[in-house]
Order: sequence, then structure tokens, then C-alpha cells
Amino acid sequence: MKVLLLRFGELYLKGNNRNIFESMLISNIKKKLAGESFKFSKTFGRYVISDYKEEDECKIISLLKQVFGLYSLSKAVEVDAEPEKIYSEAAKIVIGEKTFKANVKRADKNFPIPSMELAKNLGGVILENNPNSSVDLYNPQFEFNVDIRMNGKAYIFTETIKCQGGLPLGSAGRGLLLLSGGIDSPVAGYMIAKRGMELEALHFHSYPYTSELAKEKVITLAKEIAPYVGKIKLHVVSFTKVQEAIHMNCSPEYMITIMRRIMMRVAEKICEANSLGAIVTGESLGQVASQTMQSMTVTGEVVKRKPIFRPCVAMDKEDIMQIANNIGTYKTSILPYEDCCTVFLPKNPIIKPTIERCEREEKRLNIEMLVEECLQSDEVVVIE
Ligand code: ATP
Ligand code: MG
Repeated sequence: MKVLLLRFGELYLKGNNRNIFESMLISNIKKKLAGESFKFSKTFGRYVISDYKEEDECKIISLLKQVFGLYSLSKAVEVDAEPEKIYSEAAKIVIGEKTFKANVKRADKNFPIPSMELAKNLGGVILENNPNSSVDLYNPQFEFNVDIRMNGKAYIFTETIKCQGGLPLGSAGRGLLLLSGGIDSPVAGYMIAKRGMELEALHFHSYPYTSELAKEKVITLAKEIAPYVGKIKLHVVSFTKVQEAIHMNCSPEYMITIMRRIMMRVAEKICEANSLGAIVTGESLGQVASQTMQSMTVTGEVVKRKPIFRPCVAMDKEDIMQIANNIGTYKTSILPYEDCCTVFLPKNPIIKPTIERCEREEKRLNIEMLVEECLQSDEVVVIE
């Protein structure tokens, strides 16, 4: 019978929590495949998807490749774990002159033949049917793999498809992603979700200084990461009054710093109102003036009760762009619409802001009222 054999990685490390992680992973897999007909079964250390329509195989594989917590999968043939049945699968192999290797994994130690011996026998069968091939244990062109599991079945496969890895979505709580229209923040959301965090998102717009299209762009980005990060509740908040107030009252070089501090205050409030445990941003150390160590210190300083996670902090832009390409957000991110941060952009933003100076600048504003107005403007868009 043709099946898909699924492997999960790090769940092994979780001791007593393993059951909780596993049931989350299984439920996420079933949710992901909800539109398909298939049978799911588990055996120690592996899951098996069977009884699906052959023509849906590619689609099912691409859906499974979006599930965090799955490490790899193989298209496999499932047979009863009996030597003769395994040999008869090996006898079907046609590889011409290719070099090959047979690998045997024997989770079920009751299987009568030791792994090494079975591999040797399988090599014999393959050689017999492919007299021009030869064995190469170190750099084979073809691999014949047999995985004998505890459920009395053997799984035979020749290729392993890499999946996402990471931890099951939902296993690391829920956080708030600050989602701009740029390249970095969708990648940051994907990366933190890969560690198991479910997300809501927060976007600040400066309508009418930024266009309706800028908002649409962010909704598109949220839709593009949703296949990985799941359902997203996107908060769209107006930042116009904040920016006007800062523009009128604060020193231009501190404008972005103060904006960021207000964004963070709003984010913390939205976290509290929605039971979200962390703020997530796309900042990367040294990328721009507002992302130096000192800038991150003064923006982080206003957040009192939540950690700020910055998954891209140590990444080069090139590598962030690579991930954006892989997950399919890059093309949307580079669309040219204005971000609120580019409205009233000062010529020389401060690179090493101080907390004392921020506090002095902020005395000229009614911070509490500005934050409250942002919260009042919150428009929620649910994206699945
Ligand atoms: P990105 O590519 O994610 O926009 P960036 O390199 O353009 O990042 P900044 O504009 O300095 O950097 O923004 C840094 C981070 O602040 C963003 O990654 C995002 O998390 C948050 N942020 C910036 N602008 C907004 C916005 N309009 N709404 C929500 N979050 C924002
Ligand atoms: Mg940006």
C-alpha cells in the first residue's frame, strides 16, 4: 500500500510534555488536511497517512510541508514486516548502472533478521536484478531504505522530503506580531511561529498620508503567512494623530524613536487586552538607525510586562530576503506603498538615543491620550 511516512523531530526532547506536543501536532496535521480524504495512523516515532487519492498526493505533501513540528516525510510502500515481502519490494527496483546502498532501520527488535544482515541481503536482491549496478556505501546514487516499525509494518522508501521542523503551532503560547509592509516583519512572524507561537498581528497606518493600498498590502502579507502561522487576528490601528503630534512637538532627530516607543506602548496594551504573551518585531541589529542597540534599549524600555522577541535580530538582510522568498512574501513586501515610518521621515534620525532625552521629548506630548486614541481606532480583520 502506498502511504506517506511522517517524521517529527524535537518532540523527542519534551519528556512528560511529549503527549501534549504530539496531540497538538496531530491536531494541526488533521486541520491542515481537513479538505482531503485520508486515513491517519500513528506508530511510535512515526505517523502514517494512507488511503488518500493518488492524484491528491502532491497537494497533500505540499500542505504537510507547511506544518511546524514535522521534520521530514517520505513517499513509502507499506508492507507487513516479513523478510520475503521486503525482498519482493527490493526485487522491483530498476536502477540500471547506478550505484546504490540499502539502509535498514529496525525499531522493532523482534524482527528476525538483524539490520546489517537484512541490508546485505537486500543489496544481493538489487544486484541480482541490476547486474550493471554496484554498491557504494559512502556516496550512492540511489538509496533503498527500509524502516521496520513497532506496528508490524515495514516502510520502504527511496527519498526523504524535508519539512519545516520547529515545534507545533500553539505549543509556545500566543504573541503579537508588529507587522509593517516591509520584508522583515512577515519573516519574523514566520520564524517565531515556527517555534510554536500563535500570532495576532498589529499594523499602524497613517491614513491619509499612507494609502488604502498600504493597508491592503499588509492584509495580503498576513494572508501569505497564514498557511504557516494559522489564523491571524490583525489589528489595524491609526497612527496619524501620533505622527502629527510628534511632528509638531518633538525634535526631528527623535521622531522615529518616539514613534517606536508609542508603537510599543500600544502593542503592550493590545497584548494585555487579548491575552498575548509577547511582542514580536522584524528588527535586525544595525540595519537602520532605529535598530541600533541603543535604539532597541529605549524602545524596549517602555514595555514593562512583556518580552520583546526579535527573531531577525542577528540575521543579514540577504538571509531574511531568502526566507521571504521561500515563504512567498517577498514580492508583496517590495510593492512600493508608503509605510507610516516613512511619513515625515527626518533627515538624520538619532543613532544613539538616550532614555532621558526621550522622556524630555515626550513631556511635550499627551502620551496616554495618544495611546488611547490608537486603541480606539483598532479595526480587526480576521485572516485564515
Ligand atoms: P520591515 O521590513 O519589517 O518593515 P524594516 O527594516 O522596514 O522592517 P522598520 O521600518 O524600522 O524596519 O521597522 C522595524 C520593525 O518595527 C518592523 O519589523 C515591524 O515589526 C515594526 N514596524 C514598523 N513599522 C510598522 C507599522 N507600520 N506597523 C506595525 N509594525 C511596524
Ligand atoms: Mg518597515
